[in-house]
Amino acid sequence: MKQLISLVVPFYNEEEAVRVFAGAVLPVLEDIPDAEWEVVCVDDGSRDRTLAGLLKLAAADPRFKVVELSRNFGKEAALTAGLDAARGDAVIPIDADLQDPPELIARMVAAWRDGAEVVLAHRTDRSTDSLLKRGTALLFYRLNRHISNIDLPENVGDFRLLDRAVVEALKRLPERQRFMKGLFAWLGFKTVSLDYTRLPRAAGRSKFSGLRLWNFALEGFTSFSTTPLKIWTYLGGVGAVVALVYALFIVGRTILFGNAVPGYASIFVAVTFFGSIQLISIGVLGEYIGRIYVETKQRPIYLIRRLHGFDAEP
Ligand code: UDP
Ligand code: MG
Repeated sequence: MKQLISLVVPFYNEEEAVRVFAGAVLPVLEDIPDAEWEVVCVDDGSRDRTLAGLLKLAAADPRFKVVELSRNFGKEAALTAGLDAARGDAVIPIDADLQDPPELIARMVAAWRDGAEVVLAHRTDRSTDSLLKRGTALLFYRLNRHISNIDLPENVGDFRLLDRAVVEALKRLPERQRFMKGLFAWLGFKTVSLDYTRLPRAAGRSKFSGLRLWNFALEGFTSFSTTPLKIWTYLGGVGAVVALVYALFIVGRTILFGNAVPGYASIFVAVTFFGSIQLISIGVLGEYIGRIYVETKQRPIYLIRRLHGFDAEP
């Protein structure tokens, strides 16, 4: 039997990208020897004509399938929906905007057939991303390496090949808030990495604003590290020692020289400084408690309005 390769593509307001994407991906998939393929397109609650475009694709070619979500759930949830629906022996999540070059797929499949269970696509050149985006990305990876207990490969996105075994393993991770890169890294498995150059978007605009990236980074830290929770114990300890030394100094000085009542400035500084430290630490607690709250509600990660082109329920 031929192997089945699935592409999983999240679409959010990508009406210009739909046809360009299909046009670019088709010849690549047709060229893969000894394989059948399917393209699982996830419409992540687009407000433009993306869904109509996808349905047209699916009507013209049964190998294109559409998972229609009930609203915008975000890229991570859309990817999860696609991975759940994909049936392939190998599954490849890829962006709709062609920033992940489809030409790499043939090399990924070859590496997979050579025994790799995960084939990463490593960006050697991000010069198409802005300086700020590259700088903050670098900072994120550095910090993450120090405080978290997984090794997040640098400059690797969601574009990768996953063996069926890896996809099944991923399905066993039940968290609602899904930092996909981290989840993938946590799984392990036999991994090889291929280099490629990140291209500019083929059409449309990026959906990730500065604030969204910041929240994404917070998700990354809090999903895989409790270090931000723990540092306050040590900071508090150091603060207590400093305060004790200072107290002894004040008492000694008062005994030796009497009390001339100054000290307004030092009290003010101490009160405001420790007050803000406490607020920060409460804020960090809040980040974690908020996530615990969301997890305990056990809501589904995504909701499907309709499946198009699937033979039976996946
Ligand atoms: N995307 C999605 N849901 C969202 C935001 C983005 O499915 O809420 C999809 C989007 O359509 C694209 C992919 O995720 O296929 C990557 O998004 P984008 O290109 O905007 O991110 P960037 O490349 O700028 O990091
Ligand atoms: Mg993009």
